[in-house]
Amino acid sequence: MTTLADRRLLLVHAHPDDESIGNGATMARYAAEGAQVTLVTCTLGEGGEVIPPQLAHLAADRQDALGAHRIGELTAATAEVGVTDVRFLGGPGRYRDSGMMGVPDNDRPDCFWQADLDEAAGYLVAVVREVRPQVLVTYDEQGGYGHPDHIQAHRVAMRAVELAADPAFRPELGPTWQVVKVYWNRMPRSVLLARLAGTAAAHQAVAAPESVPGVVDDELVDAVLDGTKYADRKAAAMRAHATQIVVDGPDFALSNDQWQPLISDEYYQLALGTPGAERPESDLFAGVEAR
Ligand SMILES: [Zn+2]
Repeated sequence: MTTLADRRLLLVHAHPDDESIGNGATMARYAAEGAQVTLVTCTLGEGGEVIPPQLAHLAADRQDALGAHRIGELTAATAEVGVTDVRFLGGPGRYRDSGMMGVPDNDRPDCFWQADLDEAAGYLVAVVREVRPQVLVTYDEQGGYGHPDHIQAHRVAMRAVELAADPAFRPELGPTWQVVKVYWNRMPRSVLLARLAGTAAAHQAVAAPESVPGVVDDELVDAVLDGTKYADRKAAAMRAHATQIVVDGPDFALSNDQWQPLISDEYYQLALGTPGAERPESDLFAGVEAR
């Protein structure tokens, strides 16, 4: 019989690197505080562009070896934030990166976008029933910014929360578990715009605000996690994804060379469950009883 930590957090992401950009400080904080932090990444990110020229040969249109390389980057990144329980949905390579919306890869039968929802959710139900997270973090129904794998990660996560609590769904996957709170990653528009002004002073090409995942009106933000203490851990985790991210002081760029602020505070909208007393919450476990 293994003993579960009192507080258990499950994050569901589409590609290696999304976890560090979106939740690096959150993961570092809860890992440091002794909570169980489990990351499930749904694809290997095989379709990503490669930034360093010396690794360009890994790309899908050349050796198609990026997936295996990104497993290593993810391992290094999660080590920077103290997270060791890292899994791929259905095992590494079960679902392939679908590419941006509208590209031919969307139609590949092995891509995540084409996954059968309940089959994919079933893999996550097994994790939920094993780890028994009180809190689950994923994206909104647009996947934050419309990438098919992010939309699908949202659907799979929300469906798994439902199915994990349903005694009729695949009882062989373990006793039912009800996730108490589900959060979606958010970025308050005012914070982004203020910080983008600083980015624009240092870099010529700056990301369009609407290209940043999860941007919403400030009042939709229910929880703000102060990342000050873990800002260096988050930056280190992002740097570990060297094929995907360049970090330059307070800013970073993806392969499109558009710079954006590296924001260490992390923001969430409560999608399921009852908020804690504080508004906004400063702790995702606020109001959650240990069980
Ligand atoms: Zn992604």
